[in-house]
Amino acid sequence: MTIHPQLDIPETIAAGPGPGNTDARVLARFAGAGLADHMHPAVLRGMVQCKEMLRTVMGTKNIHTFGVAGTGWSGLDVMFSAVMPGDTVVMFVNGTFSGIDGLTVCMKAATADELAANPMDPQPASVTIVNVPHGQSVTGEVVEKALAEHKPKWAAMAHWETGSGRVNDIKGFSDACEKHGAMGLVDAVSSLGVEDFRIDDYPGVHGWASCPQKGICCLPLTYAPVSFTDRYIAELKKTGTRTFVHHPVMEARHWGIIDGKDSPTGTYHRTHSAYAVAAFHEALRITLQQTVAQRAKDYTFHEAALREAVTAMGCEVTSNMTSLIVLNLPYDMAGREMELVQYCRAQNFGIWPTLSEPVQVRIGILNLLSQQAIEDIVARFGKAMRDHGAEFNQAAVDAALDRHYGRAIAAE
Ligand SMILES: *Cc1c(COP(=O)(O)O)cnc(C)c1O
Repeated sequence: MTIHPQLDIPETIAAGPGPGNTDARVLARFAGAGLADHMHPAVLRGMVQCKEMLRTVMGTKNIHTFGVAGTGWSGLDVMFSAVMPGDTVVMFVNGTFSGIDGLTVCMKAATADELAANPMDPQPASVTIVNVPHGQSVTGEVVEKALAEHKPKWAAMAHWETGSGRVNDIKGFSDACEKHGAMGLVDAVSSLGVEDFRIDDYPGVHGWASCPQKGICCLPLTYAPVSFTDRYIAELKKTGTRTFVHHPVMEARHWGIIDGKDSPTGTYHRTHSAYAVAAFHEALRITLQQTVAQRAKDYTFHEAALREAVTAMGCEVTSNMTSLIVLNLPYDMAGREMELVQYCRAQNFGIWPTLSEPVQVRIGILNLLSQQAIEDIVARFGKAMRDHGAEFNQAAVDAALDRHYGRAIAAE
């Protein structure tokens, strides 16, 4: 028998697409929660308050707005639980994550025979996958054309595709869903808490799912925010779904959403963790104190600085998200992306490659919203580039940052 030594995990800079850097206040609440059980009044009160704050963060009056224990995929599994075998679905895919959403949709929509025919990668006749090339956004026109042709029950898309760093046209998607009578389902894992938007402004979308660890900055495994319209819930009540734990109506009960109404306290669904509730509660408080609008502005401002600096190093940025840049290395370094990323990661500078072809470098700024943090990322990335033989004009990089942050340019 081996008892391993205590596990030490080093300090790292999470400068990737996610997870984001969790605020010290969130960690303090996590560690500071007493051992209250999941039916303790303080825990139940905390869950009801989380639900209320989450409605503000998401910009919604949807009663069915709550957190799903687990990661982003947990929330997405709840959202896609209303898709039943044989349902018609059009799924728009433009990168790794919408690709996995597409797999989830196929698993849910496959008939028993279709699932048995290809259990790990079912190909149901009722699902249409519309592929948009890596590096491009899903446009309103693409959605409009596909929904006009297929008239599906459901349409699904990622709001921000983190694999390629692309923002998809949520308004065009919502409009096309309304026009063609499809119920929209959106993976908002990367956009919630980063962009300033209100889900109620997109009436064609009936289900939304996000995650704890990106814009909400609450990694201590907590809650994936989800929200559903009354129409989604009515449809689900009609068809039912084959899950207890990820059932949107049953999971909502512990958050004090019972029979379609707010209730002063929740009822048992599963054993929620007081630590997770306390951490999630604090993360939502921080978001509302800073405001989603201010955070969105800060992301836009700092992303632009990072973009300018790496462009001055000769990289080509192909993304348009504000929490993440996805870039091609300078021409003479092409093919060395993985080597460079691994080199940075070995120094606890946690940048990422793309997870599907083509190989690109991803650098994220989740909760790294300060001049100092951005300058640190630029310095580390620049050094890694030089250590790999890149030649660029450091003065041009410094000048880009100086210009951006409005400092006096030192006399040359
Ligand atoms: C990160 C991400 C996911 C997966 O979230 P997990 O927390 O890893 O489960 C899904 N979709 C998108 C768009 C993402 O960015």
